[in-house]
Amino acid sequence: MSENIMVLCQPDEQKSCGACCGLYNYVDSSRESLTLRLRARTRRFRNMVKNPEDIKCYAEATLAGEDCTKRYEVIYCCEYLGFLDAGEKKVGCLLHPMQNSGWDLRAGSFYGQETCAGHLCPSHHYIPANQAQILLKIIEDWYLYGLCLTDIDLVVDYFRMIADRIGEELKPEVFKNEVLRNIAREYFDWKINWPFRSEETNRLGKYYFDGSQYMISYIDYEKFGREISPLDKIFMSLSSTFANAQEMAVAEELIMGNVRKFVATYRKYY
Ligand code: SF4
Ligand code: SF4
Repeated sequence: MSENIMVLCQPDEQKSCGACCGLYNYVDSSRESLTLRLRARTRRFRNMVKNPEDIKCYAEATLAGEDCTKRYEVIYCCEYLGFLDAGEKKVGCLLHPMQNSGWDLRAGSFYGQETCAGHLCPSHHYIPANQAQILLKIIEDWYLYGLCLTDIDLVVDYFRMIADRIGEELKPEVFKNEVLRNIAREYFDWKINWPFRSEETNRLGKYYFDGSQYMISYIDYEKFGREISPLDKIFMSLSSTFANAQEMAVAEELIMGNVRKFVATYRKYY
């Protein structure tokens, strides 16, 4: 790992990410459902695991007690992901040594200790440091944080559009400004409440699973007599589906309206 890389998994006391442990890979990956799932696991783990040997019983009870139907069969959903704090602000590994008086229990997991301890997802390499720092300032919520952080196009394309218009890269300090924070937050909230989100359950972002492999869900612009939208990658990140060209135009205006609002507000202050 390069020393310059800021590790994004557990950035502060307000949030964390558990995406690569399979957090969002349940068919029902709604906030409500995941919260109940993680809460039950955490309680079970605290009650049952007093010694390293106990994790087997914990895993059996968890797998027996949960609906484990997955979105993508090839992605493992780890039964050891839970809440790390009493306030349920941070998701993370219940087998981590910091959760177990220094014992590292991850050797008993599906991926094993080395993979679990050493994995850094592509966001660490493809999201520039200033943009990652901005995300940390905007999002104070594990559910939204993990979804956005792992969606590189959603993050990078948005900040690039803004940087192109203000003539410089955005600095994280700018987001001390609550108005700017809220405008950017409106954009990232669309990861959850985008009005053109596809209802297909077997889909997260631009990928869907056709039964044997991942497929990218492309938008058929030709059908609407349209050129590919400049917002194509963002549309795919938001799992968009459009009934007609008019809906697509409305979607483009929503996003560009947000960008214009951000830039106009930025110019007022800086
Ligand atoms: S998906 Fe990336 S940021 Fe999230 S926990 Fe995994 S490695 Fe960390
Ligand atoms: S054991 Fe590995 S995959 Fe499972 S929650 Fe811990 S870090 Fe994630």
